[in-house]
Amino acid sequence: SFRFRRSNKTRRGSQNDSSSSSSTNSSMLVNDDVDDPTIRPTAEEAISWAFQHGLVVASGKETAGQVFHAPVALYPTPFPKDVFEFAKEITPKFAELYDKVSEDDAFMRETLREAALSDPEFTGRLWKIYEACGKRGNGRLDKELGILRTDYMLDTRSGMPLQVEVNTVSTSFMGLGSKVTLLHQHLAEYTKGNIDDDMKLKKENMPTNDSLNQAAKTLCEGWKCMECENASILMVVQEGETNIFDQRLISQKVFETIGVKTIRKTLREINESGRLDLKTNLFSIDGQLCSVIYFRAGYSPSDFPSEAQWEAKMLLEKSSSLKSPSVAMHLAGSKKIQQALAEEGVLEKFMPNDATEMRKVFAGLYSFEGEKNMQKTIQLGLSNPADYVLKPQREGGGNNLYGKELKEKLENDTKDLPAYILMQRIFPPSHQVTMLRKGLAHEIESLSELGIYGSYLRKGDVNSNTARVMNEHGGSLLRTKAASSDEGGVAAGYAVLDSPYLV
Ligand code: ADP
Ligand code: MG
Ligand code: MG
Repeated sequence: SFRFRRSNKTRRGSQNDSSSSSSTNSSMLVNDDVDDPTIRPTAEEAISWAFQHGLVVASGKETAGQVFHAPVALYPTPFPKDVFEFAKEITPKFAELYDKVSEDDAFMRETLREAALSDPEFTGRLWKIYEACGKRGNGRLDKELGILRTDYMLDTRSGMPLQVEVNTVSTSFMGLGSKVTLLHQHLAEYTKGNIDDDMKLKKENMPTNDSLNQAAKTLCEGWKCMECENASILMVVQEGETNIFDQRLISQKVFETIGVKTIRKTLREINESGRLDLKTNLFSIDGQLCSVIYFRAGYSPSDFPSEAQWEAKMLLEKSSSLKSPSVAMHLAGSKKIQQALAEEGVLEKFMPNDATEMRKVFAGLYSFEGEKNMQKTIQLGLSNPADYVLKPQREGGGNNLYGKELKEKLENDTKDLPAYILMQRIFPPSHQVTMLRKGLAHEIESLSELGIYGSYLRKGDVNSNTARVMNEHGGSLLRTKAASSDEGGVAAGYAVLDSPYLV
């Protein structure tokens, strides 16, 4: 494993550097758990910078809540440059692919049928909205607006970036992620001279990260193409959201760029005071038209505690406002679709010219549908549970099954397996990383997952190349987690925000 500073022989409390002594802790900002005196000043600078530049999260309630610095890696984590470049190049093709999938009613129907039946409370409910008003010829606009994030892990065995998943709904950290890159660039300057020459961070190895600007640009372009001068943007948010600053950074950037305000509402509030405008059929709330609806909620069953939230979701979908994403695109991002695309000839049908390159990032994906597949895939998973991940149709982290749990499920509880997929487990290389969490520094053996954002706008027929007026690289995000943890979400508490150091 690789790390930027030398593993230091100095023990906690050594006389070399009083700041490393826990008994004479002069620090307001850092309480470290790390035996290296060079960490403390850098960690203090990092935490101070984070507060000063809005690299922060809230503790719970939107108003009057406590604010913390976001969980971050102190230094960027090494990542192979060629793998990064390949992931960056190939990712826009996945935006095009998933949009094409979302417009193929027969394929969506066939692929999601069993998952909708086996998971009636959630996938089934979304499917009903799609049927009622979310498909082409039945309410869907001939436009799609996407802020996507495709996640990859470097597979040590093959040297390839293998795709973990494509997120089409409610991707996050475009705001905080670009700030982490700036933080790491700042620390590269700040630590010059502290660190041995061979360990010095070089700025040219730290790729610029435009994810905040790109996310804002996507919303601006979506708003402009709706041609409704007096409309706002609606951001659909969760009750008690903690990641509000990430979201508001984007809203502020939109406001600075085109002078358009963002209204933040939960599904419950939308159910109470949202309407469809009689003339335009655009969504309106408290009398204000919203021509763009940007979902940062509604991707998890917990966002729908009652019928009120489902009614709100249906109302939004029925409107002629531009949804990011439409329910069709949301459903296209299901793990079940990812698995179906891996089947022979399927990806090739959607993307005849690019399938060969795109295939390179596919991990092994297996279905439980039909008696034959069911038996085969169960056998495969049980043959070596440590080599697979069992995934339901869920988002947001913390839902997958590994190891013992995977084994138990495959042995004893097979009824709803058609709502799951089995995936080859990817084994990325590990690194020794110093993480900062709520003012505490920890040194942890860790793994990283690279997210590549995409900015996407289609106006018109999905099969026309000129309709894709925007399909761009939207910046990147590295998320780093303890090697001992299976799951990886930052918001779910497993990982920290990080940036790649290209080597
Ligand atoms: P979600 O939509 O909930 O984020 P993911 O498919 O991204 O679902 O899985 C959550 C986390 O589980 C990932 O961030 C990653 O850390 C881990 N994970 C998922 N798939 C794999 C895999 N095939 N190999 C190794 N780890 C995986
Ligand atoms: Mg996801
Ligand atoms: Mg994920």
